[in-house]
Amino acid sequence: MSRLPVMSSKRVLTSSSSSSENGQDFAPAQKKIRKDPESVKPQAAATIIGGKRPPVAATRAPLSKSVRGMGAATVAVGPSRGVLKPSIASAAAKGGNTKQPAVSTGTKAGGGRRHAWDLKGKVSDMEDKVRNYQTKFKSINQENEVLKGSMAQSQTRVAEVEKQLEKQRNQIREYEEELQALSGVRDELEKVSSDKSTLQKELSNLEGKYKVMETLRDSQETELQTLKMKLSVQESTLARVQATLRDTEEEVRCLKETVAQQRDELHAGEMERRRLHNTIQELKGNIRVFCRVRPLVGGGLSKHIQLPASDNKTITLAKTEESHTGKTADTQKNYNFSFDKVFGPQASQQEVFEEISLLVQSALDGYNVCCFAYGQTGSGKTYTMEGDEFDESRGVIPRGVQQIFKAAEKLGAQGWEFTFTASFVEIYNETLRDLLYTGKASKRPEHEIRKSANNEVTITNLTYEKVSNEDQVLGLIALANQNRSTAQTAQNDRSSRSHSVFQLDIEGVNAGRDVKCKSTLCLVDLAGSERMVKSQSQGERFKEMTAINGSLSNLGIVITALANKESYVPYRNSKLTYLLQGCLGGNSKTLMFVNIAPETDSFGETLNSLRFASKVNDCVIGTASANRK
Ligand code: ADP
Ligand code: MG
Repeated sequence: MSRLPVMSSKRVLTSSSSSSENGQDFAPAQKKIRKDPESVKPQAAATIIGGKRPPVAATRAPLSKSVRGMGAATVAVGPSRGVLKPSIASAAAKGGNTKQPAVSTGTKAGGGRRHAWDLKGKVSDMEDKVRNYQTKFKSINQENEVLKGSMAQSQTRVAEVEKQLEKQRNQIREYEEELQALSGVRDELEKVSSDKSTLQKELSNLEGKYKVMETLRDSQETELQTLKMKLSVQESTLARVQATLRDTEEEVRCLKETVAQQRDELHAGEMERRRLHNTIQELKGNIRVFCRVRPLVGGGLSKHIQLPASDNKTITLAKTEESHTGKTADTQKNYNFSFDKVFGPQASQQEVFEEISLLVQSALDGYNVCCFAYGQTGSGKTYTMEGDEFDESRGVIPRGVQQIFKAAEKLGAQGWEFTFTASFVEIYNETLRDLLYTGKASKRPEHEIRKSANNEVTITNLTYEKVSNEDQVLGLIALANQNRSTAQTAQNDRSSRSHSVFQLDIEGVNAGRDVKCKSTLCLVDLAGSERMVKSQSQGERFKEMTAINGSLSNLGIVITALANKESYVPYRNSKLTYLLQGCLGGNSKTLMFVNIAPETDSFGETLNSLRFASKVNDCVIGTASANRK
């Protein structure tokens, strides 16, 4: 933008300097200024020349000379005579008025002076002179007129020239102004040129950058080419992979079909397994009795308990009676008992659990399972049910729940979803106590057993804890033990005089197959079965004893009634059977451990326990045999 004024100013400058190109208003004026004085002169000269000038000049020179000559002629005739004569002659010739005869008269012929007497000649000479002067005067007047006219002309010319001069001055001023403006333009030009240099630098900078970019572009283009090649390779690979994928998808579809088919088969197999498992359990007896003999504190077994090596189903209690008379030999009285299984003192917790794990499986299959530990205090009931903390000495409850959680996880793959709810309740003196209670002791609520319309038994205000792993159950056992120990005093080993009932409610749903199952696993650590001498038990102890005896004998009665499929089962006679009624009847499985203390002084209690248990066992066998008929 700034270039345009520069260019125009340049153009102005050049145009003004070259007169030949466009000098209509400037150059001619200059020329005029310079030429005019000369041109005026020649013009005037020309006018004069063309007019009357030559005669003037011709006349002038002779005039002055003639005047002088005349004067000389007058004053000193002689030396100037020769000069005067021709001029006069020429003037006379040009003027045409001079009288030749005066000369030709010869008065003066020979150049000599007129004689003094020749007055006439003198007069005629004078007259000639006068005529000459008159002619001269006339021509001078004419010349003067011409000069006046030329002067007026010159004055007009001068005025014109002055006007022109003024115009030129104005123009010069304009030019000066223009020049001023042009100097501004020059400054601007300088600025522009400095800008230009900056821009040039920038440009060179940018060019450098451009070069770098170009290099970069080149390298990227190369890279792009490489990538394109790779892409094409990848595309062909992709096409191959897609083809493979289609094949694989087809394969997967086939496999899915197979899997679905196999799932159906698996489900059918699982249902069949349940049925068969139940059949086996039923054949084994829905009510079973196991005997477990605790080892002596120092290890081994006392003589009065005999366990045949070949058989693990019988136990013999031998009593040696000394002869009263001393004449006869000591007599030995043997009490033989047979059970579904007898575990000796060496039997590990694992071995014991293996036998009941089948029942635990039944619990997961949807059958109610009840497991009792019966026996005198110190016979190993709690050890059997709960065991110790160590892995190998853990009892039935932790092992049972572990098995259930594991099995439930496996069944998850077949579409089964299980929820487990645990509760732990103590029955002491026919009152219920929540062993999972964590609130204030003073605010401990009372509990009642309620039976719903669909024969489900619940306990009011009881803690029902959702569990999903073994550790949670172990935590609950610990909490229950803590609750039990706070209730007992030094003299009153309450835990041995109360029943503790662990219940795990199992609910399974197989949504895909629209199958549900619901069952309860009850693991009961019963109160010590030892009888007290009536005279020794008074007050609270008597009350406890009555309650324990009542509930334990009622348990025996209920189990017997169930085994005999009697129409009336006296569940309501004790809190224990009332609470467990849902788990005891129908297809439910019942297992009773009869725990035996091996010490000799426990002989009586052992005998009692074995009698109680075998009564139950005999019932079952009786039923089984009756079925065989
Ligand atoms: P209960 O609950 O019937 O009163 P416990 O289970 O408390 O009897 O057993 C009494 C003691 O004998 C405990 O110290 C226990 O560890 C131990 N005991 C019981 N049964 C066994 C066994 N089979 N092997 C080893 N120790 C046992
Ligand atoms: Mg105990």
